[in-house]
Parts: sequence; C-alpha cells; structure tokens
Amino acid sequence: MDIEDTLLMIPGPVKVAPRVLRSMSKPMISHRSGEFGAIYSDCIGLLKQFFETQNDVVIMTGSGTVGMDAAVGSIIGRKDTIVTISNGKFGERFTEIGERYGKVLPVKFEWGTPFDLEKVEAALEQGAKAVAMVHNETSVGLTNPAKEVGKLAQKHDAIFIVDGISSIGGNEFLTDDWNIDIAITGSQKALAVPPGLAIVSVSQKAEERFEAKSASYYADLKAHLKSARKSPVQTPYTPAVPLFFALQEALHMASEEGFASRRARTARQAEAVRSAARALDIELFPQVNEHSHYSNTVTAMKMPAGVTDDKLRGGMKKQGVVVSGGQEQLKGKIFRIGTMGACSSGDILRTIQTLELVLAKEGQLRSRGAGVEAASRVLGV
Ligand code: PLP
Repeated sequence: MDIEDTLLMIPGPVKVAPRVLRSMSKPMISHRSGEFGAIYSDCIGLLKQFFETQNDVVIMTGSGTVGMDAAVGSIIGRKDTIVTISNGKFGERFTEIGERYGKVLPVKFEWGTPFDLEKVEAALEQGAKAVAMVHNETSVGLTNPAKEVGKLAQKHDAIFIVDGISSIGGNEFLTDDWNIDIAITGSQKALAVPPGLAIVSVSQKAEERFEAKSASYYADLKAHLKSARKSPVQTPYTPAVPLFFALQEALHMASEEGFASRRARTARQAEAVRSAARALDIELFPQVNEHSHYSNTVTAMKMPAGVTDDKLRGGMKKQGVVVSGGQEQLKGKIFRIGTMGACSSGDILRTIQTLELVLAKEGQLRSRGAGVEAASRVLGV
C-alpha cells in the first residue's frame, strides 16, 4: 500500500493536513531573527488558549519526553522527593525520569485501572516537592483525574506536573483551573504537527521553586524561559525551524475550527469508536469510575477472541489502515485507535469498516455493518 493512501489512526504521530505539511517547505530563516520571533510569539499566544492558561509557555525541540524531562529536572534535585502516579507506560516514565534527578515516591496502580486518590494523598503526606501524573494515559486509553490530584497538590503545597501529551487539545484540559504548575504536550498529538516539538507551560510558583542548577543542560526550563522572554522571542539552542512553521499553521487551523469545537469533535469521534466496539462485541480495555474516564483521544480495546494481533493489525494494514497494538505486557492483548487532531468522520468510518472486514475474514464478525452503523449514528453521518 502506498504511504500516501495509508490512513494513520494511531495515537500519535497523527495525520498532518496538507496545508501544514506545505508550510514546512518554506526557505530557512535565522532563529535569532525578528521573523522567527514573530512566529514563536504568535504560537505562544495561541498555545495559551490551547492550554487554557495564563502561564508562560515555551516550545522545545525534542519529542514529548524532553518536556517531561525538563519539568522534573528543573524542579527536582538530589535531595528532593517527587511523587509519581502511574497506571500505564507513561506514568512509569515519570518514575524513571524522577530517579535520574532525585528521590521518588511511586504510587503504582495496575495498568488501565483508576487512581485511588487516598493512596495518592498518603504519599503526599510523607512530604514531596512535586507530584507528577499523566492526564491521558495513552498506553491504556484512560483519562486520569488531574483536577482531583491538583487539589491534593495544592493542599500539600507540591508543584503539580501533568503530562498532557495525548490530552491537551483533545480532552478537556484546564491548566489554571486545575492548579497545574507544569503542563506538557507534544506536537504530534492533538496539534496534528509532525513529531519533534515539546510544549511546556510553567507557573510562577514552579519558577520560584526551580532547582538552582538543573542537572540537565538542554532541558533546563530556566534557559528556555529566559530566551522566550527576549526580544525577539528566541530559543536557547537552534530549534527545528520547519516544525515551528508547521506549528503556527496547525494552531491557526485549530483556531479557525475553534479550540472548543475541536475538542467536541474529538469527543464525538471517540464515542463513535466506542459505540462501534460495543456493536461489534469488542470490550473496551480500561476500567473507569466517577473520576477516570474513557479517553477521547485514544480508544483501547481488548483483542477479540479468536483473533491475533498479527491478523487484526496486519490485516488492517494490508487495507491501508494503521492502528496501534498494546505496549509492554499488553502486547497482543489490546489494540488502540487514535482520534486526535485533523481526524475526519470519513477516517473513522474507513477504520471501522476495515476492522469489520478483518473480523469477517477471521470468522469473528456476527453482524456485518453493525460497527459502521453505530459509528455513523454517533457521528451524525
Ligand atoms: N506521554 C504520553 C501520554 C504519550 O502518549 C507519549 C507518546 O506517545 C509520551 C509521553 C512520550 O512522548 P514522545 O514519544 O513524543 O517522547
């Protein structure tokens, strides 16, 4: 299958609009020029709306993980403790990062199960400079309770770090209302830009509690904030300039659609996928409760009985639709469909139709068209 005809329905990188792709083919400009500064500050203005924040925002060259690294490394020193909450792969990444910089109090839950907020509070009671969590745990398709943990962080005077990488712009994400001191996203998710930029918002409180000298040189938020306050606005080191072009274009696209409308569309599209799954007797993977919800940006489903990962995802790929498998211990057990950014109703319907086709081939489809029918109903098409 030609790559041009391939539909990427993974939870990032996501499909990039032609208009955004074209923006990257402009001639290079100096990253110390007024033109670059104007692009950077235009992006910051729009990103503040995207993040629902008045805090400062910096754009770093590197994938989302560099933003997580920068957040933890700028706050945590050798003698400091960070509480890290995990119920999937990316929460565990915060634990691994924390161990590089200081002491970690991990609060671990089984992958795909909700946080027990009492356990989180018990950890915070032991005394910590910061608490870090993932809002939308991409590995399991679960949206975690950032608002509730934010209240606990405030009560225990801990800096609140939230990975919003697969969330911001897709799920509701209220940086200021939820008391988030450092929020992170990556360009390749709901922003629908190619991979390579991490975007980080930083509160004044976080800045006041920065480590005097972060153990990371490149990912030191102090340096990034200092350059972003220069005129013209700059980055401390040479940025991926074409990705800034793309980010600016993509932010304008999102703002034309309306940030709230985009979130509502994403929610509808995820509901369409969940609805199709139910119609096809495919079980959703994560466990949800009053605080933890099915993700609107990635739907994780159990592998249907009688079908292997190879048959399901391999079969779909042969038809030009790429979906994700499970990570680590969930390999072969689940599969995941992303609904972020510039995803269309047609993309969702093609994905569900292809899924049905593969299930039929494996003799595991009870009623042909039921998934597409259910999804169309939600999408209103
Ligand atoms: N956190 C979450 C929630 C993610 O979904 C991802 C990537 O999928 C990451 C962190 C890591 O981001 P990156 O691969 O851009 O470094």
